[in-house]
Parts: sequence; structure tokens; C-alpha cells
Amino acid sequence: MEINLISDTVTKPTTGMLEAMMTAKVGDDVFKNDPSVNALEEKVANYFGMEASLFFPSGTMANQTAIKLHTSPGEQLICDKYAHVYNYEGGGVSFNSGVSCKLVDGNRGMMTSEQVEEAINPPDFYHSPLTSLVCIENTTNKGGGACWDFNELIKIEKICTDNDLKYHLDGARLWNALVAKQENPKDYGKLFDSISVCLSKGLGCPVGSVLAGNKKLIDDALRVRKVLGGGMRQSGFLAAAGIYAMNYHIDRLADDHKRAKEIGEVLIRLEIIQKVEPIETNIIIFELDETKMSSNNFLAKLEEHNISIIGMGQGKLRIVTHLDYTQEMHLHFLKVLKTLA
Ligand SMILES: *Cc1c(COP(=O)(O)O)cnc(C)c1O
Repeated sequence: MEINLISDTVTKPTTGMLEAMMTAKVGDDVFKNDPSVNALEEKVANYFGMEASLFFPSGTMANQTAIKLHTSPGEQLICDKYAHVYNYEGGGVSFNSGVSCKLVDGNRGMMTSEQVEEAINPPDFYHSPLTSLVCIENTTNKGGGACWDFNELIKIEKICTDNDLKYHLDGARLWNALVAKQENPKDYGKLFDSISVCLSKGLGCPVGSVLAGNKKLIDDALRVRKVLGGGMRQSGFLAAAGIYAMNYHIDRLADDHKRAKEIGEVLIRLEIIQKVEPIETNIIIFELDETKMSSNNFLAKLEEHNISIIGMGQGKLRIVTHLDYTQEMHLHFLKVLKTLA
């Protein structure tokens, strides 16, 4: 049995999803003639109660498009120091938009509204870049799947409105937060100027992300997506997977969360483990007591059992539960973990 826990992106389409893909009605989406893509875009827009949405090949492209549309070159966006848009999008913020990031030293990837307010450059002080956008991430990736307190998001929205800033949500794993905190997606739709979501993470699709916003933003996003090379033809095969995933794979994220918590409970009792960060969704970040066992040794021992997890740097290790991590694998993994100490 091979157990891959390095990310929730390693999943393969289920039989039901493949069936939906194989039987999808498709057309040429560059001419906006693909009925499955159009249906997915309508479904996501309705889900958030927003006017429109656009299908993208990746979450990176969806975020980069939003940043491009919300800023002008030379301006600055505010984000947490752990933000995906800053750390893991290849410097796209500067490459694509000519924008810099003001990094906030938040907690597990989450800033307070006070920190956001302090990070805004005074608009009349022309020596510093003009602040034009706030980007937040829910759940936080590098922050270990942490979920925001919705009240804080409301407070930040007010600061954005008062200071004429746009407000973007990188919701690659927003589905996990919605399930974990039993929140209403339409509340998010009301708050943000744009929301990106990934279909290729917890929802188990092979490819795809969606950007939602108002009609004007999404009309403009079509051109930016084209410039970035993201216009696809019979992408309805992929969109059909997304529709299937939204129908059948959202509620089950609770299983991933439950298993993640159970793994955490076993880890924390192991003598070789120094720290396990709080587990709210499907990501577990932990540190070994390196005087007892090195990270490399720990990873190698798991590999002997065909179990893969990933190092995050700075002595941190990460486990991510997902759709292809079955209950059988889970019980086996917990057993193996207990033998390692
Ligand atoms: C995965 C992820 C993305 C997008 O990644 P792609 O691999 O480009 O789809 C964006 N933000 C966060 C927080 C992510 O975890």
C-alpha cells in the first residue's frame, strides 16, 4: 500500500468524476462556446452569490489575474508573510503586475485588521508606493490550514472600503474553511471584490481553478487570461470534473479534517515530536525533537513503509489528508506512526 500525504493535489479522478468527464458536452471555450465550462462558471458565481466567474488552468493564474486587474504598476498590495501570492507564485506579482508586497507578520498566515490598517501607505505621501489591494488566504497553506475568524474579515473589508482598497481572497482551500466552520459561501461573496478557488486540491479534480467577481471584473479577466496563455479549447472535460466535485466532494471534506485531527492526536503523544500546530482542516504541520530523531531520518523511516510526507524547511514537516487517503490507509498510517517512537 502506497500512502501519499505530501499534498491534497495528488488525488486522481474517481470513477464517478471520470464518467462525468467522459460524457461532458464540450465546445470551444475560447469562443465561449463550451456548455460545460459555461455551466461551471454559472455554478460558481451562484455559489458565492457573485455576478460572474471564469475558469482557469491554475490557482496561480486566477490569483495573478485578480492582482493584475486590481492594481497598476508601481503600486503595493498587503498580504501576510506566509501568503501563497508572495511565496509560491514565482514572483508573479512583480513579473505580471509590477507590484510590490507589503508583508505583515501575522499569526499562522492571518493578519489582524489593525495590522492591515498600519500597513497602508498614506496616499498623499508620494515617496512610497500607493497601496491598492489587500490579499488574504483562507484556509492558509503555509499557516497549516488555519481558518480565519469571519469577523476579522469583515473588519478588514471596512478598512478596504474606507481606504479605497480592493479586497481579494485566495480561496484555494476555501471549501475546507466553509465545511470546518459551517459558513455560508454567499457571505464571502458579499465581502470580497474577487475570490479564487481551486478545484484541484481537496475537491479532487485533475486541473482547474475559478475566479469569481462582478461582471466587469470577469469580462476584463477574460483578456488577462488570454494574455497569460490560459485560454483553453474543449476545457469542458475539465469543467465537468469541477461540477461533479462541487456536487459530491465538498461535504466529504469533513472526513479529511477528522482524519487530520486523529493523526495530530497520535503525533502529539510521540516522544520524538516536539510540536504539532493546531489542526483545523486537512493540513498538519509539526516539528520533531531533533535531539531524538532528525527530520531526514523520520522521512526515511516512513518511506520504508511507502508513506510520503513533505518537509517545509525550518525543521517543519507537513502532512495533508485528501480524497485518495482512505480509512484503511489511515488506520495503517496511525499504526506505523506508533511504531516509530
Ligand atoms: C495551491 C494554491 C494556490 C494555487 O496553486 P496552483 O498550483 O497554481 O493551482 C493558490 N493559493 C494557495 C493558498 C494554494 O494553496
